[in-house]
Amino acid sequence: MQTLIEAYRSFLPVPADARVISISEGGTPLIPLTSISLRDRGIAVYAKCEGMNPTGSFKDRGMTVAVTMSLWSGAKAIICASTGNTSASAAAYAARAGIQAFVVIPDGQIAQGKLAQAMMHGAKVIQISGDFDDGMAIVKSLADETGIALVNSVNPHRLAGQKTAAFEIVDALGNAPDYHFLPVGNAGNISAYWLGYNEYLEAGRSNQRPRMIGCQASGAAPFVLGNPVERPETVATAIRIGRPQSWDLARTAQKESQGWFLAFSDEEILSAQRDVAERDGIFCEPASAVCLAGVRESIDTGVIPDDSVIVCTLTGHGLKDPATAIAQSPAPTRVRADVAEVRAIISAD
Ligand SMILES: *Cc1c(COP(=O)(O)O)cnc(C)c1O
Repeated sequence: MQTLIEAYRSFLPVPADARVISISEGGTPLIPLTSISLRDRGIAVYAKCEGMNPTGSFKDRGMTVAVTMSLWSGAKAIICASTGNTSASAAAYAARAGIQAFVVIPDGQIAQGKLAQAMMHGAKVIQISGDFDDGMAIVKSLADETGIALVNSVNPHRLAGQKTAAFEIVDALGNAPDYHFLPVGNAGNISAYWLGYNEYLEAGRSNQRPRMIGCQASGAAPFVLGNPVERPETVATAIRIGRPQSWDLARTAQKESQGWFLAFSDEEILSAQRDVAERDGIFCEPASAVCLAGVRESIDTGVIPDDSVIVCTLTGHGLKDPATAIAQSPAPTRVRADVAEVRAIISAD
């Protein structure tokens, strides 16, 4: 099995003598979304299913490169602030590398699956009485002070790894799509995709670049508002960020690509999450679903021309956050363990 780093080595900063830390990340499926695609208008929508990565989110693409490079430069430990998935991924890759991970997470607002992962992989989990933005400020100053490698997406190796998702999409479609929708939190991923699409264009692997459309939650929409947000709030905890670290890079991606930013309410996010689960069989986490709300709105308002190819990134797996899924679903129908009672339910449906 080829690692992500081996597959795209010529585009990555990894030296030949580096020990590659891999858990078989990348190579995720690009699945047509029949529920949103419009055959009669020739609009094809694909989902890049990043929940299929080893720890269940796209963070693994960046982490394989960031941890490989940290180890190569002599780091004995890594640190990150996280809304959940970065800590899960950092913990797993640190375990694989045999080094310590310190993860700083917000109080209370972390999805259960992600916390379970960080704990099981042996990270030192530090929960602060503050939000992601507070945690980010803390780990940045500690990394400077202690020399522990910082593996948030301000680390350029994270973006280098994450840009490979754009490569895989072009490799699968034979060209770049016309539009790329993705959720935006700390804004590393939209910046990484833009990097990837540009590098593939320059290498002659594609002949166009997509418009980049960044989707945010209404309660955490600094790019839509044009300024940082104090105390961001949303059910989509992975994008509950008010001070995105990759502000300039993400703005550049949007401007150069002639894309735009959108925001959606928690209700719209959860409804998009349920929709793709019920109609396409894909269970993504709430933060991922925001880009599906974006695709649907952009098609409905007529800004997407006929015969467009759209890709959206489903950034993380739905199983990360079972509590939110269960809270928005009808309770199971309870009956006695009796054939007649179960039959009655089935025939009433
Ligand atoms: C990290 C994350 C995001 C946000 O990505 P950024 O690079 O911070 O913009 C979105 N969805 C999920 C599931 C994530 O884990």
